[in-house]
Amino acid sequence: MSDKNFDVVVIGGGPAGYPAALRAAQLGLSAACIDDWKNEEGQRLFGGTCLNVGCIPSKALLESSELYHRAHTEFAVHGIHVGGLGLDVEAMQARKRGIVKQLTTGIEAMFKAGGVTGFKGRGKLLAGNRVEVTTDAGVEVLTAQHVVLATGSVPVELSIAKFDGRRIVDSTDALAFTDVPKRLGLIGAGVIGLELGSVWRRLGSEVVILEALETFLPMADQQVAKEALRHLKKQGLDIRLGAKVTGASLEGNAVNVRYEMGGAAQELVVDVLIVAVGRRPVTTGLFGADVKVPVDQRGFIEVDEQCRTTVPNVWAVGDVVRGPMLAHKGMEEGVMVAELIAGHAAQVNYQTVPAIIYTAPEIAWVGKTEEEVKASGRPYKVGTFPFAANGRAKGMQQTAGLVKLIADQEHDDVLGVHIVGPLAGELIGEAVLAMEFSASAEDIQRTIHAHPTLSEALHEASLAADKRAIHGINR
Ligand code: FAD
Ligand code: AMP
Repeated sequence: MSDKNFDVVVIGGGPAGYPAALRAAQLGLSAACIDDWKNEEGQRLFGGTCLNVGCIPSKALLESSELYHRAHTEFAVHGIHVGGLGLDVEAMQARKRGIVKQLTTGIEAMFKAGGVTGFKGRGKLLAGNRVEVTTDAGVEVLTAQHVVLATGSVPVELSIAKFDGRRIVDSTDALAFTDVPKRLGLIGAGVIGLELGSVWRRLGSEVVILEALETFLPMADQQVAKEALRHLKKQGLDIRLGAKVTGASLEGNAVNVRYEMGGAAQELVVDVLIVAVGRRPVTTGLFGADVKVPVDQRGFIEVDEQCRTTVPNVWAVGDVVRGPMLAHKGMEEGVMVAELIAGHAAQVNYQTVPAIIYTAPEIAWVGKTEEEVKASGRPYKVGTFPFAANGRAKGMQQTAGLVKLIADQEHDDVLGVHIVGPLAGELIGEAVLAMEFSASAEDIQRTIHAHPTLSEALHEASLAADKRAIHGINR
């Protein structure tokens, strides 16, 4: 055992942990990052869930599957005829793995360049801000001025539908299918369920999504959610709301899924069942016997607004703490904590965390939904604009959806922007920046938006909030 001393030791090298270590090093602190991720080939890679089995591989497959789908359904409209269109799932997966490899090894390169010491192994917080690291080479103990816990989350397993890795699977397995399942079932119409359902539907699966709630995407603005549901159903995603799964069992080469819907017991037989009912925080084996970091009933490490735990100099960020389980939320928290440790002023604006669902059309939003604003009693105004009236969207043959802007009736500040439509995830960036700068609807109205661009739809929605826009003149 050897002792090593760092200003900052980060446990967890996902999108919350690795930026914390890099930022600390940038600010002149000595930093280490410990991560125990192992891929299916046994390689240890930094990047956590997001880079290895989350954001990045899912977006790679969403892109490939969307291209295939569009080649089938849309190219002919453009006057492009492709004969003998074929599908090579292994090539698609190989491209995905290549992207993951480039990005995960990129973190190691950044650590090297930035002066962060990376440990590939398991970290455990001991008393007195010491951290035990277990790697293939053995066990050592680091001492740290500050420790940042960034151990992330894993998929929730249902006792009524236990994973077997082949027929009843989690999101990680569902990103690695080597064949397109003929009949695919999903439990959960959340973000992950919709994205995975979209990938395999576009590649040919018959997809049924069972969702216990009666409301589709309850966290989203309901006008936008309803519009999205209409388009997703049109693509053949059979989304059954109010369908509570009560059991699933393997029968031969199939999975028999039992659920209750409309007061009646129902059954669904599929070849593969993906369980996508959320994720839970990971703290197993993280704390030494005499470490007292409070964890709430659901397993999240308790922190204040600036990610401090109640133990001095121990911080926690990302999926393992409260708030949306999103990579960019974790990144911001990691950077904030590094800056606070370095003595800077820093904060995360939790009011402007964007949410994106990478379906087609994409769904994206920032700020409050109309339902939330209405419930608050604050007088408000709404402007909407359909992509069907946007020239760029027409050129792209992607006119589904709309932009909706909600602003305070009296003071005009933008309270929320909700988009369903082409590249909504890119377009929402402008709304996030506007809200971060406390923009009014008038600020967006007076901002020149290039023509013809999709961003003009936000401009038009801001004008419509004052009912001055004449719909349908955006050529
Ligand atoms: P993780 O990324 O989970 O990283 C934690 C790391 O800590 C892991 O590598 C883990 O092995 C390691 N670890 C845990 N315990 C220890 C220990 N004791 N010692 C050492 N290492 C340890 N978010 C988005 O914002 N956009 C998306 O498009 C998106 N798509 C997603 C798609 C899918 C299919 C999934 C599953 C998730 C997606 N997410 C997306 C969510 C995103 O992946 C998470 O919010 C993000 O990864 C959380 O980052 P984190 O650093 O907190 O945790
Ligand atoms: P998310 O938390 O966004 O990943 O979404 C998970 C979804 O799964 C939620 O909308 C839950 O309502 C849904 N869900 C959880 N358990 C069940 C179940 N037994 N049957 C159907 N849907 C479920």
